[in-house]
This record gives sequence, C-alpha cells and structure tokens, in this order.
Amino acid sequence: MTPTMDLYQRLLEHFGPQKWWPAETRFEMMVGAILTQNVNWNNVETAIDNLKKEGCLTPMSIWEIEKAHLEELIRPTGFYRQKAARLKRLSRCVLENGGVDHFLRQENLRDALLEIKGIGPETADSIALYAGDRPIFVVDAYTMRIVKRAFGFEGSYDDVQDYFQNTVPTDIEIYKEFHALLVRLGKENCSKRSPVCDGCPVNPLCLLRKPSASIF
Ligand code: SF4
Repeated sequence: MTPTMDLYQRLLEHFGPQKWWPAETRFEMMVGAILTQNVNWNNVETAIDNLKKEGCLTPMSIWEIEKAHLEELIRPTGFYRQKAARLKRLSRCVLENGGVDHFLRQENLRDALLEIKGIGPETADSIALYAGDRPIFVVDAYTMRIVKRAFGFEGSYDDVQDYFQNTVPTDIEIYKEFHALLVRLGKENCSKRSPVCDGCPVNPLCLLRKPSASIF
C-alpha cells in the first residue's frame, strides 16, 4: 500500500465517509465551489439558502439577476462583488455551451473552467471532480499542509496533484472522499497554528508527529 493510500484508509476509518459534495444539483455544486473560496462552509450555506429562496440557482437566473441583488444574496461569503462577477461569467459560459449537462460533458472541461476569469485550479478541479465526475485530485491549502507535515512533500499545486494522482488509484469516488477527508483532518487536527497531534489518525505515519505542539 502506498503512503497516500495508508493515509486515506486511516482517515476513512477515523472520520467515516464525508459524502461530498453537499448539493442538490450539479449547478449548485458549481456555485458552491466558487462561493467557498476563502470562507468557511457555514457562510456558503447561508448564501446558497438565499439563492434558493430567490429561485436563483440556475445558470439563466444567475445570468439574468441584477448584479447588485446577486451581491446582496451572496454577501455572507465575503468578496461578494468578485464572486458575483465569477458566478455571472460561469453562468454565461454554461449557457453558451448548451446548459449544465453539455458544459460538464465537454472533453476539455478543466481548461474551459480555467479560462473563466477568477476560476483557479482548486475551483476548477473541485467542479471537474464533484460536478463533472472527472478523475482529478483536488488540492487545497489543507492538502498542501498535511502532505508537507506528514510526508515532508512540498511543491506547487501541480506537484502535489501529481503526487496524489500517481499514488492513489484513479477512482473518482476515492478522489471525492479523499479530498473531503483531508479537509476534515485540516479542520479538526492539522490546523495551521495549533495542530492537535494527540489522537490524530495520521499520527503513526506523520514525520512531524509530536505529543505536544512544541515544534510548531
Ligand atoms: S500528527 Fe499532527 S502534524 Fe501530523 S497530520 Fe496529524 S495533526 Fe498534522
């Protein structure tokens, strides 16, 4: 078993399945992936609820709604002006490509997403994996921190993505679950400033494991 699969098994055993992405439709997943940039998920849920109450969770409704109104609905997520503009650009792109299903089925989905101003690799990969069912490993700040601490592996977004994609079987369900589990570990144990190594399920593997946080 590779160290990454060992990590996966330990996380799954400890936290159980996370069943991501929490959304009723694929387009809601796409919207959530944009709204969650730089904010915690509770704020995203509030914004998604606002959009639902307004009947504004389709590409057409987001494209048509007045931008100032959209900004108000998603204000809880912060950076709401930029995010509203991103949602409008994404919606236009989806509409121009024949709707959600057609958009998500296109061969070069990741490239198409990256061409939308304001959508970076993490957001594009989240949409490609969770909404588009593409075998792409999502990397975020939690993932970078955990592989650095646990395995001493450091690199760019692409390096870390390759690291996982080369050592984890190409299985969409594993990719989905693995990313969610890394986020859970990052929140519950492996935080930026005060990692809780005692009781961390990765402790037996981790290069930086310590009974106290003294080395941080
Ligand atoms: S043992 Fe500590 S440093 Fe290692 S993954 Fe767990 S919380 Fe992070």
